Amino acid sequence: MKYSVKMRASKNNDKENLHIGGAESIVDEEDLLNIINSLASRGLNHSRGQADFVNIKINKVREEDIINIRALKTKTIEVDTKEEGLVVMEKLLNSMGIENPQRVIDLLINTKNMRGAIILNILSLERMEGDLDKGVRVTNMDFASRRDISNKNHFKEALCLATKTLNAKAIIGEVCISDDPDYVTGYLANKKEYIRITKLKERGDLNGGRVFLYDPRLDTIENTIDYLENQLVIVHE
Ligand code: AMP
Repeated sequence: MKYSVKMRASKNNDKENLHIGGAESIVDEEDLLNIINSLASRGLNHSRGQADFVNIKINKVREEDIINIRALKTKTIEVDTKEEGLVVMEKLLNSMGIENPQRVIDLLINTKNMRGAIILNILSLERMEGDLDKGVRVTNMDFASRRDISNKNHFKEALCLATKTLNAKAIIGEVCISDDPDYVTGYLANKKEYIRITKLKERGDLNGGRVFLYDPRLDTIENTIDYLENQLVIVHE
């Protein structure tokens, strides 16, 4: 028997409820209580601030509903400044055939406080998410191997998310900058590779975001969002 466990943490900022982080796992029954503990402590002590509200949701899942996929290959490109990092990203987007890489980068670096990702139609350059404030949140994925999740491992968690996302028929790329103020490495993923770029923002910057590159010729937006939100995926390294 397996369970999906999801945590999200927020704090009260003036009258707003500000999202500060989330995490999730798909676990066997015998690991369930340990995972709940790890996720609760992680939600309460986040680098974006102490939570006022932590929500933990547990769902039983059917093993036959899970698909198993192999993690994307990874590589790292070292840069010294965020400007250099963004130039590398622009060149990689160009090499993937994206005609307007600057539009993708502008969207990415101007994103603030979204819980999910922007989905950009690469032909019309329109945003495809129904809720433009929240974006689309990819959930229901985990690695096959167990690891300590009481602290965030940016690289591994993003690799899991990117592997699931790039397995969607119509998502041909993803760019990401963390919203964690002390994590400046970001990445670009395509169908074959997850490419880390070691500096894409200044330390201390609370902004970050994700943009998924959607090719409407490959699948409908409804199928794509349904897959991203609901399909259970286990990633094997
Ligand atoms: P993070 O890599 O967790 O620092 O997140 C960076 C940004 O990616 C966040 O500010 C959100 O806009 C977006 N994001 C975080 N988690 C998800 C998710 N599960 N699905 C889609 N977008 C996400």
